[in-house]
Amino acid sequence: MLITDPKLLESLRQLEVERRPGVRLASWTSLGIGGSTDLLVVRERRHLPELLRQLRKHGVRHRLLGGGTNLLVADGELPWVALRLAKVEPTVRIEGNCAWLDAAEELGRAITTCAKANLGGMEGLVGVPGTVGGALRMNAGAYGSEIGKLARDIVVYRGVCNRIETLSSTSVRFEYRRATFSPCDILLGARLELVERPYREIIDRIHVCNFNRRTSQPLAERSAGCIFKNPAGTAAGKLIDDLGLKGLRIGGAMVSDRHANFFINRGRATCSDMHRLIDHVRERVWTAFQIELEAEIVMWVN
Ligand SMILES: Cc1cc2nc3c(=O)[nH]c(=O)nc-3n(C[C@H](O)[C@H](O)[C@H](O)COP(=O)(O)OP(=O)(O)OC[C@H]3O[C@@H](n4cnc5c(N)ncnc54)[C@H](O)[C@@H]3O)c2cc1C
Repeated sequence: MLITDPKLLESLRQLEVERRPGVRLASWTSLGIGGSTDLLVVRERRHLPELLRQLRKHGVRHRLLGGGTNLLVADGELPWVALRLAKVEPTVRIEGNCAWLDAAEELGRAITTCAKANLGGMEGLVGVPGTVGGALRMNAGAYGSEIGKLARDIVVYRGVCNRIETLSSTSVRFEYRRATFSPCDILLGARLELVERPYREIIDRIHVCNFNRRTSQPLAERSAGCIFKNPAGTAAGKLIDDLGLKGLRIGGAMVSDRHANFFINRGRATCSDMHRLIDHVRERVWTAFQIELEAEIVMWVN
């Protein structure tokens, strides 16, 4: 969606929003899939309530883009604009055994900055790409670490009341790859309670997790991580593998032959290729096992 209304464009300037017109979101997602729209980079978060008010007033829908590592985005011209938060420095602020993390910071960088202050507890998350905000929204987890378990306070722009508030984590439920924020909430930062641990020990744990990832996941390919959540008692990847679906292709989308729950873009995959592959695999798993796979990735397909 291209914003053309001169009044809205003037408001964006006043609100210090950087507008990048007609950006191809394929360049902003790890899958390398996604059509074009205006990308609005929010530099001053205090302007968020007014920015969202202006977008609403002009009938402009929006989606909040983090690192784009858990998204399947539609092709063509998108009927909404993408908002992205600019980082606020310092992106990591240590207070005793806690750290305030900026939502726009890359999760991996935040983890290593905390490690240098001898604060661990997030070692398993180090290979999760994307931002702190995306990790909180998705309750990212890996190798025994889960970000929601560490969160204590979360700074949120709350769409319902159009205000920035600090929530205690007791008012949010962090569940398997989801958290109970409202869809119109924008997470701005969080205070995490970490574990005091020597830097060397943290780095050793990180190396083990990195090794496990490198040897089991197609990290050189374009993917969005695991496509499906693991159903109770089993792994989605195992079910897909048991059906011999590794290497299955629809157009440019393919089930990775390294990890059956990673679907990759072989170069020119469209959103429709990926979507059809997801539906096909889901149907095959249902027919064979009567297990309904739930998507872990977020789909911006309409
Ligand atoms: C190679 C690879 C490995 C992966 N491994 C793992 C893994 O081990 N464990 C795991 O949990 N995930 C994994 N993922 C998935 C993904 O990296 C995580 O879900 C990540 O936390 C998403 O963060 P993001 O910033 O990229 O979010 P995006 O993909 O940009 O967005 C995902 C959702 O979060 C919302 N969002 C993003 N930022 C904010 C914000 N500030 N406020 C409100 N909403 C926001 C978006 O609107 C969207 O709904 C992997 C992905 C890849 C490509």
